[in-house]
Amino acid sequence: MKRILILCVAIILFFSSCAKTREAKKTIFAMDTVMELTVYGNDGEAALTAGEAEIFRLDDLLDRGSEDSDIYKLNNDIDVDRVSPETIKLVRRALEVGASTDWAFDITIAPVVDIWGFYDQSYRVPSDDEITTALTKVGGDRVNVDEAVDLGETKIDLGGVAKGYASQRVSELFRNMGVDSALLNLGGNVQVIGTRPDGDPWRIAVQSPDGDGYAGVLSLSDAAAVTSGDYQRHFESGGVDYHHIIDPETGYPADSGLRSVTVVCEDATLADGLSTALFVMGLDAASDYWRENGGFEAVFITSVGEIYVTSGLKDKFESEYAYTVLENSITKQ
Ligand code: ADP
Ligand code: MG
Repeated sequence: MKRILILCVAIILFFSSCAKTREAKKTIFAMDTVMELTVYGNDGEAALTAGEAEIFRLDDLLDRGSEDSDIYKLNNDIDVDRVSPETIKLVRRALEVGASTDWAFDITIAPVVDIWGFYDQSYRVPSDDEITTALTKVGGDRVNVDEAVDLGETKIDLGGVAKGYASQRVSELFRNMGVDSALLNLGGNVQVIGTRPDGDPWRIAVQSPDGDGYAGVLSLSDAAAVTSGDYQRHFESGGVDYHHIIDPETGYPADSGLRSVTVVCEDATLADGLSTALFVMGLDAASDYWRENGGFEAVFITSVGEIYVTSGLKDKFESEYAYTVLENSITKQ
């Protein structure tokens, strides 16, 4: 009798977990990268359709190369009064994050990104003169955002926050549609909604900058984990590797001793901007920034392969390698 009961319970558990773990998946190519959306539970298909539409809408809105985009309008001073309030808000937010990082993150970096060919993948090493000239047009503090956005001489590139913002928007959309378990991977920008269907946290691998394998695993629920790394987009010339994260101070790919930064927080837009900024800053300045500002956690991997993890991730990060825990951030509510 007892055995039959156990069997019945097992069968019920099996079917209820099957019902719960209904999985719907979609792969999308947008914003120059491969994105994968996975939704668990009922109505996953409807959520995916809405999520995909949202991503394409944002790609159209924010792609500075497309003449119909808001960023094209701003950069070329065309129909600026028709730029959507949403774009203006995002530009303001990106500038705000930039200012807080002392412009290590600077969306006016566009002319420099262009001469390195990172925008249209026509990679080349520009001359020092070209870099100096391009840098004269860079400076987030020169953008006027008091009323409408007035870029002045500058041009903007939202590449450092667009995927994070898209991830944030799709998560909001999913939550509004009643989704309580989902995983978004927008070209390495990961965001998780709720927990896994079995109630456990999601396990997010932090990629090893050297290629295969991973440096560690983060156990997260309701969070974004965004990585900026020198291995994501790069080219080689004359035996030197050049990557796509530019130090706005030098106009060269940032050479800060870091190979990757993963920022964990609820706000994916912030996580995206900060991952780029902290990469540019390097470990010391980045950990000072974390101590002074708080509101996020991070995993740093240095060029000699050391791993540093901020204290809020102490119980959420596992690795087969040794790592150092950074202490003392202010805790923000
Ligand atoms: P990924 O796009 O690979 O996820 P990031 O989020 O770090 O990586 O963004 C890098 C992109 O942001 C670059 O391709 C470029 O368009 C832009 N960018 C590069 N350097 C900076 C910078 N210092 N500040 C703001 N944007 C930058
Ligand atoms: Mg970024």
